[in-house]
Amino acid sequence: MIKKIKIIIKKLPLTYMLLNISRRLRIVEFLVFGLFIRIFSIIGISGSIDYAKKAVHKEDNLKNNHLEVKINHECITIIEPWPYGKKLALTINFDDISPNKEKGLTDFGGDLNGIIVKRFEELLSILREIKVTLFIPALLSIDLAKGRFYKQIGSIDDRKYERWRNWLKHWESTGRVEVALHGLYHYNYVKKSQAEFEGLSYEKAKPLMVRSLEIMQSAGFFPLGFRPPAWALGFSNCLINIAKELGFAYIAASGVNIGLNSYEKLVSDLLPTYYQGIINIPQNIVLGLRNNITFKLINEIEARRGVISIKGHFADSYYLASSLNITNYKWLISILYELYKEKDKIWFASMSEIAKYKICLKSIRIQQESSNILIVKNEGKYTIDGLTIKIANNDLTNRPYNQKNEERFVLPSISTGEIYRVELDSKKTKI
Ligand SMILES: [Zn+2]
Repeated sequence: MIKKIKIIIKKLPLTYMLLNISRRLRIVEFLVFGLFIRIFSIIGISGSIDYAKKAVHKEDNLKNNHLEVKINHECITIIEPWPYGKKLALTINFDDISPNKEKGLTDFGGDLNGIIVKRFEELLSILREIKVTLFIPALLSIDLAKGRFYKQIGSIDDRKYERWRNWLKHWESTGRVEVALHGLYHYNYVKKSQAEFEGLSYEKAKPLMVRSLEIMQSAGFFPLGFRPPAWALGFSNCLINIAKELGFAYIAASGVNIGLNSYEKLVSDLLPTYYQGIINIPQNIVLGLRNNITFKLINEIEARRGVISIKGHFADSYYLASSLNITNYKWLISILYELYKEKDKIWFASMSEIAKYKICLKSIRIQQESSNILIVKNEGKYTIDGLTIKIANNDLTNRPYNQKNEERFVLPSISTGEIYRVELDSKKTKI
């Protein structure tokens, strides 16, 4: 017993020293990167003014987010972009969460008692409506001394990560957290960069994606969405086809001036849009973006009835951009509190819910049965909840759509193949 105590006492100074070094490193990191980034952002040379301009550039070609359905000369029906008549959608997403925890280095969520998991859980408990999509590499390894992802240590289906998986599954079961895929290694062994699929051909990239899905499934996760590590979509964007072939419902492959929009704007930064046959959900607000730029973008998104897509990295770091460090965490809470002032007009959704809803909208068929009855049929593969349609009065022959004589109907759940009759007079719906 005394021997054991002696050993513990001997080890104490070393542990203390190590802790101290780690703490000292955090302070140095903050001073070098944290303050620099703050100053950089405050004096506005970070390109964030340009950021807002780029975000709205060419967006007007997309007009708004309504789907107009003209039934016949008697009646005009417009399908609203979001369910339950909500004005806009809000989704929050974090990249790079991983069970790998290398001692002394930054925690990407592997330490269930660590600060980053605490912040995440606090966020979900303070704001009870928000939903979060987590993009996970199947086999992330980290060398944070270099700020790089570089080697294999253990995949997320590793036996030693069972507790971590259960923690994640618990959150998934609440319906507020979605698990999506963020590549296999996150690391490109040829280019020695974080952009795993950069320059890879279809033949080289597909086995990596297949392997990553196998690992996810063996860990008990069935992702519907994919975000490429460091935005690289392979040679000729071949990852888009691979994602479709592997049955993904959506990609999250664009941000302002990055991903699909790196060279020219291929997809909207403010709305979910189809690209080469798969729906893309953009990120448009990154953690720590200047407040005036953030609210300018939120206004633009609301005007177009788009999606506010707030993105961060699941780490407590000052050198990893938009990480959930204390500064950005406080920023996120303050932005969300501001949005909560009018939370009734927001549809809080995970990315897969947004994708499914948009996919559903393409499969809704509307016919006019009589002057008083509309038939709404769901020909898609998902049940649609809260479908909202606006109907202009029946006497509109050859007249333009006029907001004054419209009525709005929020329909109940319609499952695959089901038909609902909307009674235009009574504002009621029945099977
Ligand atoms: Zn990443």
